[in-house]
Amino acid sequence: MFTCAKCKATGCTKGDLKRTLKDCPSKNEKVQSEAMKGYEDPESRKIAYNAACVEAQGYCEDARLVEIIKFMHRCGYKQIGLAFCSGFVNEALEVTRILEYNGFEVVSVICKNGAHPKAEIGIEKENTIYGDPDMEMMCNPIGQAKALNESGTDFNILMGLCVGHDTLFLKYVESPVTILAVKDRVTGHNPLAAVYCSQGYYRKKLYPEDPNKYRK
Ligand code: SF4
Repeated sequence: MFTCAKCKATGCTKGDLKRTLKDCPSKNEKVQSEAMKGYEDPESRKIAYNAACVEAQGYCEDARLVEIIKFMHRCGYKQIGLAFCSGFVNEALEVTRILEYNGFEVVSVICKNGAHPKAEIGIEKENTIYGDPDMEMMCNPIGQAKALNESGTDFNILMGLCVGHDTLFLKYVESPVTILAVKDRVTGHNPLAAVYCSQGYYRKKLYPEDPNKYRK
């Protein structure tokens, strides 16, 4: 089992494979030969190459949105899909304006597309937000993916989809995707805030049975 998160040596980051855990993915020939074969695919290689260039050229200067714009220009993507959550309508409009200003065509699809009531997928009253599965519309990430596939977008941006809905979008979408933002309703969409507070005010929430486990 690979446990890179527990590796203090991280020799891989310095090209020194003497400093690794015993079970190390860097030393797994099957994993590494298959991975490097992946970069022989021209599209994958283009993405990997341009990702590295964008990282290097705006390192610690460009916000993620600027990096995405530069990356999409470098890759030659023209028509961009924007899959967004209905809780992000204002942000979606602003992102669309920014992308259009930067020369892209934007196809945007909201999570509630199709207007399907939650009852259609068997969601019960107690599992709705406001108490009526016939009146509350379900998120339809498969519909978002299908609509963007149908439009033939070159590249897609995911913005603010819920946990699990993002899973389905990623499962069904056909062209490559990056994520501008993930949803986290209680941290201003900054999920790492919970991690940064995990040894403080948020400890009991993350380690409810034994808050002192792993205490630093
Ligand atoms: S790949 Fe190997 S050296 Fe790198 S973090 Fe994982 S276990 Fe450690």
